[in-house]
Amino acid sequence: MTTPTSPLTSTLKVFFNPHFAASEYEFDTTRKAIDIAESLIANPIANVELVDPTFFYQEAERVISLIHSPEYVKAVKTGKPRELAQSSSFVWDKGIFPMARAHTAGMIAATRCALENSVRAASLSSGMHHASFGSGAGFCTFNGLVAAIQTARELGALRILVLDYDAHAGGGTWNIMQKLFDDNVVQVDVTVSPFDTWTPSGESRLDIVDSSDYREAIRTSLDYAASLEPFDFIIYNAGVDIRNSGVSENDLRARERMVANFVGSTPAIFGLAGGYTWGRYNIDDVVAWHRLTISAWA
Ligand SMILES: [Zn+2]
Repeated sequence: MTTPTSPLTSTLKVFFNPHFAASEYEFDTTRKAIDIAESLIANPIANVELVDPTFFYQEAERVISLIHSPEYVKAVKTGKPRELAQSSSFVWDKGIFPMARAHTAGMIAATRCALENSVRAASLSSGMHHASFGSGAGFCTFNGLVAAIQTARELGALRILVLDYDAHAGGGTWNIMQKLFDDNVVQVDVTVSPFDTWTPSGESRLDIVDSSDYREAIRTSLDYAASLEPFDFIIYNAGVDIRNSGVSENDLRARERMVANFVGSTPAIFGLAGGYTWGRYNIDDVVAWHRLTISAWA
């Protein structure tokens, strides 16, 4: 199976389709991909191309069955048992599974695109890094970051970096990594929140910092990640909810430039992760923050 690509591999392919919002349950992470895609159509960013990942649904179901327990996958599909089906905090409806499968398919499609063409790619996926092997958590259903790791490993990538700069820590990702992968899959995480923190081992690293120290913490974290190179593949969880936690837009913009520079020519993907209309912000703000990541990578 190969990723459908145009001859112009220099465009940043950003995977998305309307199933990213298939759940009846309305939340920023089950809706914002639509607003971002509409914004990219109305006000395009040069060298960015939206691509539909529907072709990868079957593949997504196969990978989901490898990275989550059968009981949990069944619960998300059927709604039973209800407590497990709603462990993400979403009220269960029959659209939850198609929604989460589409987000996962986007990450798998982006991974295949990046590794098969040795380029950068992206998916408008979110709600991933708190999901652990046996349950959802913190508005995350299936762990698309781990789906990307699994896909990359099947494509022969040995040394893989997960860079998680969402405002919250990636304890769900770490939980599944410990179960499925060796020390050559490394997670480097900077968080401004104690939510879902984890205990690093090997080369992995977690920094919990104050929002006023954020830019310097990212610089230090990227210097550390650079000391571990080379990587065959980089997965960036590009949460912009640091804005909801008091980090300035200038610091977010600087972060995205630093990460894009760090990635360089290594095959890499990003997913959206957090970014909310909480506080004084609206969906236009959230779209604008995520566009900073897309622009930096394009
Ligand atoms: Zn978050």
